[in-house]
Amino acid sequence: MNQRSLICPCLSGKPYANCCEPLHQANHGANTAESLMRSRYSAFCLGHANYLLTTLHPSKRRPDELKQIENTINTTAWLGLKILDHKQANDLAEVEFVAFYEDAPFVQLHERSRFTREAGQWFYHDGVFMPDIKLGRNEPCFCGSGTKFKHCHGS
Ligand SMILES: [Zn+2]
Ligand SMILES: [Zn+2]
Repeated sequence: MNQRSLICPCLSGKPYANCCEPLHQANHGANTAESLMRSRYSAFCLGHANYLLTTLHPSKRRPDELKQIENTINTTAWLGLKILDHKQANDLAEVEFVAFYEDAPFVQLHERSRFTREAGQWFYHDGVFMPDIKLGRNEPCFCGSGTKFKHCHGS
C-alpha cells in the first residue's frame, strides 16, 4: 500500500499526507511545538533522518548527530505516541509526551521536551525524562490498534 494513504504514524488519526508528510517534505515549518513533536516522532518511524537533524536546534547537534539519529532509526521499532501536555508562551514551548517502542514487550519514553521558535521555525532543544505513566487495562491500546490495552500490548 502507498505510504501516503496510511494513517499518520503520530496517531493523530489523519492520513499521513494531511498530517506530518508536508512538514517532512518541506524539511521544516511546523506551526506549533506539538506538531513539530508529532512530526519528529513520525520522522523516527519513517526514517527521515535529515528532518530530525534540521528540527534539532543547531546548538544541540553533536558532531556525529546524523549518524546517531540513523542509529536510533535502525534500532528502534516505535509503537505509538501519546501527547500529554503542550504549553506555549511566545517563542518557548514545552510538550510532554510518551513514545512507546518495542522491547519485550515495550518501553515508555516519557519526556517533557523544550522547544524554541527562531525566525518563525520551531526547534527541539532537549527534554527531561519522567517516570512511566499508568496505562489503564480497559483503555484503547497506545499503539492505535483500537483494541483494549489488556488485549493488546498489555496482555
Ligand atoms: Zn502526523
Ligand atoms: Zn497495542
